[in-house]
Amino acid sequence: MMAGNWKMNNTWAETVVLTQSIINNAPDDWDEVDMVVCPPLVNLKAAFSVIEFDKAPIAVGAQNVYWEDSGAFTGEVSAPMLAEIGVSYCIIGHSERREYFGETDEMVNRKLKALLASNIAPIVCVGESLAVRDSQTHIDFVRNQVRAAFAGLDASEAAKCVISYEPVWAIGTGRTATPEQAQEVCFAIRSLLADEWGSDTAEQVRILYGGSVNVGNVDGLLAQQDIDGGLIGGASLDATSFCALAQACLK
Ligand code: PEP
Repeated sequence: MMAGNWKMNNTWAETVVLTQSIINNAPDDWDEVDMVVCPPLVNLKAAFSVIEFDKAPIAVGAQNVYWEDSGAFTGEVSAPMLAEIGVSYCIIGHSERREYFGETDEMVNRKLKALLASNIAPIVCVGESLAVRDSQTHIDFVRNQVRAAFAGLDASEAAKCVISYEPVWAIGTGRTATPEQAQEVCFAIRSLLADEWGSDTAEQVRILYGGSVNVGNVDGLLAQQDIDGGLIGGASLDATSFCALAQACLK
């Protein structure tokens, strides 16, 4: 799976151009990799319009959701609203939302449950800061984030989720975790899933790596046993790079 987190980038017109350019540059056997683009909310429809016109096998994801279905929650958008327009994935718990918008583990858990109730697959971001890594407690830290996000789920619900391990110190910094560092944490996540929900469920959950992934480092990361794809920030804003990353999944 290769998912692009476009963050707060691109106007409506730029979204149309980038989506079209991704379709034009996509790998020949693109239906064998789950390509997902996650534009800002107001541009979800712009991405859909291009994808639907070209009948392209690319899914559209949102970058945020609120856990209530409707009501007096000014500025928020609910899971049923996203589902109605065809959104099939939604990023939750991104470190930028945790840091700048106060998203807590409990909020991530509520959002996750709301998404599943609307048949939208959550892409749950977890990852440690540099201080946590330096204190060598990153494995416990990340496992606790996963435990909190998945609290109260049964195995069939857990299996529908995607987890993205994104060390905060690697996001947008140009500093990637080594394949071994990424694998260590992704393995720890998969082991936790196996302990809690069984090994079949653990195998079904896709675990992505995110943090300064580019065409130069993607092969080493994807070669790791417990890394099933990538969540891409900067490099997803360039169609050629993003498509090369999707192509790397097919090797
Ligand atoms: C992200 O924000 O999810 C991300 C991985 O960003 P970048 O690829 O730019 O580090």
